[in-house]
Amino acid sequence: MPGRSLFTASRSGRCGRTDPSVLHFHRRLDENGRPTTTFGHFWNDAVAVWFIRLTRQELAVQDIGFQPVGRWSEPIAVGAAADPGLVAAMLAATDTVHVSNARTVPLTTARAPQPPVILCGDADHAITPAAGVGARDAIEDAAALYTALVSRGAPAAAMAERRHQILAERAQAARMFRTTT
Ligand SMILES: Cc1cc2nc3c(=O)[nH]c(=O)nc-3n(C[C@H](O)[C@H](O)[C@H](O)COP(=O)(O)OP(=O)(O)OC[C@H]3O[C@@H](n4cnc5c(N)ncnc54)[C@H](O)[C@@H]3O)c2cc1C
Repeated sequence: MPGRSLFTASRSGRCGRTDPSVLHFHRRLDENGRPTTTFGHFWNDAVAVWFIRLTRQELAVQDIGFQPVGRWSEPIAVGAAADPGLVAAMLAATDTVHVSNARTVPLTTARAPQPPVILCGDADHAITPAAGVGARDAIEDAAALYTALVSRGAPAAAMAERRHQILAERAQAARMFRTTT
């Protein structure tokens, strides 16, 4: 069974061997075609940033947050082996990484939203950061809840509708993923 995903992210020096101002993604797949690591980077004249997702068990709270890069250098180099020179340059320019546990909440068996506590954003439907949609989903939840509240509608119904939209988008993304790998 796959473990949870772990994200590290950092700022580092420029990466001259890839195209600037493009968000580059490198995925490694297991034997079933599922991504086990995702390495992303972006650079231009002003900034260079990167992240990596590693599939592994959840880390304890004392091991997340800002951490010295040392312990992570080897897993990062292995996970981002698609471009060893690039990763070596980024690691050489990085002292500290930010480490997060990440997970996808399936939602399919979740209890329906109901007062008095209605979850939204990651608390309701976290998704791997590799999908690149969690922040937008959280903002759209907030907008839907705001609209329900100011129009005297039902916030629980608004979140139920948001879940329908999110599940439809996840299914569409999964179909696209299957046809492009
Ligand atoms: C490395 C990484 C890269 C990502 N990249 C992308 C991306 O490219 N695109 C994208 O759309 N999404 C991305 N995401 C996901 C995105 O960050 C989340 O989906 C989004 O932040 C969720 O927003 P939220 O408001 O629901 O939760 P959060 O942003 O987690 O906010 C919850 C807040 O509640 C606070 N809190 C928790 N417990 C308590 C408490 N008891 N009392 C008071 N405060 C509390 C927390 O400190 C936090 O500030 C990324 C995530 C990670 C980790």
